[in-house]
Amino acid sequence: MQFKTFPTSYQAILDVIDAVDPVAYSRYRNHVDGPVTYLSPYISRGVISTKQVLNALLEKGYTLKQSGKLIQEMAWREYFQRVWQSLEDDIFRDIRSRYTGIRHAQVPKAVLDASTGIEAIDQGIKDLYQYGYMHNHLRMYTASITCVTAKAHWLNPSKWMYYHLLDGDLASNSCSWQWVAGSFSSKQYYCNQENINKYCGTNQKNTFLDKEYHELPLLETPAVLTEAGTFNPVTILPATQAPQLDHELPLLLYNGYNLDPNWRKDTKANRILLLEPSHFREYPVSEKVIRFIIALAENIEGIQVFTGELADLPELQKFPAVYSKEHPAFPHYPGIKDERDWLFPGIQGVHSSFFSYWKKSERELFRLYGESPFPRPAKIKRQHAYL
Ligand SMILES: Cc1cc2nc3c(=O)[nH]c(=O)nc-3n(C[C@H](O)[C@H](O)[C@H](O)COP(=O)(O)OP(=O)(O)OC[C@H]3O[C@@H](n4cnc5c(N)ncnc54)[C@H](O)[C@@H]3O)c2cc1C
Repeated sequence: MQFKTFPTSYQAILDVIDAVDPVAYSRYRNHVDGPVTYLSPYISRGVISTKQVLNALLEKGYTLKQSGKLIQEMAWREYFQRVWQSLEDDIFRDIRSRYTGIRHAQVPKAVLDASTGIEAIDQGIKDLYQYGYMHNHLRMYTASITCVTAKAHWLNPSKWMYYHLLDGDLASNSCSWQWVAGSFSSKQYYCNQENINKYCGTNQKNTFLDKEYHELPLLETPAVLTEAGTFNPVTILPATQAPQLDHELPLLLYNGYNLDPNWRKDTKANRILLLEPSHFREYPVSEKVIRFIIALAENIEGIQVFTGELADLPELQKFPAVYSKEHPAFPHYPGIKDERDWLFPGIQGVHSSFFSYWKKSERELFRLYGESPFPRPAKIKRQHAYL
């Protein structure tokens, strides 16, 4: 599958899961044209779960060992979600250490304009604007030249990327930017031209990143990255009618992070996709993202889209019950909050590192399936673990 199209019908999404090849994934996932799953827009939007993906792989006969790398990547997602649950809004501040030498708190203009001069990154940014997706390595390279080379603080740049991503997820996004910038890791993430060429199929030379790794910490910000750009995001929400509500029935609240068509499917209920302007003022997203969310909601029978605040829903207290799915972005929802489907429901809280989280996850997989995803558990160099 090419990332240029992200189908939205549920059957087509199941077909994307069916096409996943975890063996090829583990070998070539670092390459920008490699066999990654392209599932993040559906996982982030809560249409499918990581657990569902694992079950589908096992049902197809793949072993845990064959699926190990993909399971570990999905575990990164859950790890960041757990960090968010625990730290709440503190994930939008420097989590561990304040990194110094910051030049400004904006997105570098050359990053905004896709004119950094690093061909692969510029193409990645253009694709992000056009298709709403960027390969993980390109996200890391982009974040690295923004925070490490251009010395911009990570927060506004992370909002810029989040704005455009169909898979925008506040935890994965914010924590990953902090991981690259060095405020949620022991050191900053450096990339050089050789690494970019290797994974992006380019052959560029003599760029500001054409250096040995030991030279990179001494690199002055190149002129092309010094100018701060202006990024003023707004979310354009659709104008909607007041929803038709039956106060005899429960109310099920959906949002851009819960679009699961199978959630409480057999419950007779009012189903509302709630697009709260206050949420999108705080975490703006592009029109493309809003269109994507609404298209995904079409898989949910009887759902009504409502642009408005929760308090604008008439006589909320009169519903016999209000249900939503637990999510840190919506602590203000009333009523019963169903658990999300986790790969590792029992592993909660903040861990000192992803590896302490992963060690527990591996034990859990062994307990559940009698098999370990890696022959020698977690034998992965820490500094390269995210690659
Ligand atoms: C700076 C930066 C910003 C990011 N922002 C987001 C974001 O807003 N939303 C988002 O979903 N991911 C984000 N990621 C993580 C990762 O880049 C994407 O999840 C991945 O590229 C999605 O594409 P895929 O589904 O084809 O990935 P695959 O490689 O096929 O991975 C399968 C699934 O595993 C999970 N996953 C894989 N890699 C990671 C990772 N490094 N961290 C967390 N989960 C991972 C995702 O759920 C993904 O769908 C970010 C990474 C970086 C470096």
